[in-house]
Amino acid sequence: MKTIDFSTYSSIKIGGTVDVKIIKKIQDCSDYTLVGGANNILVSPNPPKLAILGKKFNFIKIDGDFLHIGGATPSGKILSYAKRHDLANFELMQKLPGTMGGIVCMNAGLKEWEIFNHLVAIKTQSGWIKKEDIEYSYRYTNIDGTIFEAKFETSQGFNYTLLEMFKKLRDNQPKFPSAGSCFKNPNGDFAGRLLDVVGLKGYRVGDLAFSTTHANFLINLGNGTFEQAKTLIKEAKQRVFEKFKIELELEIKVLGH
Ligand SMILES: Cc1cc2nc3c(=O)[nH]c(=O)nc-3n(C[C@H](O)[C@H](O)[C@H](O)COP(=O)(O)OP(=O)(O)OC[C@H]3O[C@@H](n4cnc5c(N)ncnc54)[C@H](O)[C@@H]3O)c2cc1C
Repeated sequence: MKTIDFSTYSSIKIGGTVDVKIIKKIQDCSDYTLVGGANNILVSPNPPKLAILGKKFNFIKIDGDFLHIGGATPSGKILSYAKRHDLANFELMQKLPGTMGGIVCMNAGLKEWEIFNHLVAIKTQSGWIKKEDIEYSYRYTNIDGTIFEAKFETSQGFNYTLLEMFKKLRDNQPKFPSAGSCFKNPNGDFAGRLLDVVGLKGYRVGDLAFSTTHANFLINLGNGTFEQAKTLIKEAKQRVFEKFKIELELEIKVLGH
């Protein structure tokens, strides 16, 4: 067990101190909710049983035209490795905070660049699962096991032009603590635009607010709480539904109630 204080560990700086099981070997973790870098989660005061992958799963191995990456490997390490070995397909890791497990589980990405684009297979407690056998789409996968390792195709040639473009695309992200985009973009529209139209850009409850820089980022201005986050999420869903008849879907994962 490891005690994690989610008010410092999570990117949005919300949550209490929780005992989290450390997973040291490949095993069935179905009684637990996996936590990676906590860059996309909101931990309630009553979280489910949590587990995190141990150091053994923080690795990168090259195997011909493939790269094997452990589920606990942070995005920054993957980016540095790709640069150092002049490898393509990992430029997306630039300022995409997270671990391999969380990034694959969320099919994280930016516009048409998603982690699944070059994924070959994942290793769970049930063995290797090929990409073709996984359902995935924009910020969605149907993976319900633990991602211990992921295998990607790669080739020579780290693309610095792409890297610069990712840097620019992320320029409008607020500097305050957040969990990334709060809602998924609905088909053909942007959650940030809808929140702006219904008057929620900059809207604040206590120390939590929808950012003035980008309305779809729920930001913590100091001592924001889980309850304040829930109030803002509810308000946003209600206003957007009343005005546009669109049901906003959360991108952030809420752990507990
Ligand atoms: C400033 C900022 C910018 C961001 N920008 C982007 C962006 O441009 N694009 C984007 O897509 N996201 C973005 N995000 C969100 C975040 O980077 C991604 O969702 C990332 O995938 C989270 O990884 P994590 O390891 O922190 O996962 P966590 O937040 O810890 O968990 C996310 C989900 O993955 C599951 N999970 C974690 N590890 C495993 C595992 N080993 N096996 C199975 N399931 C697991 C968790 O149960 C949870 O459901 C941003 C976040 C921040 C704070």
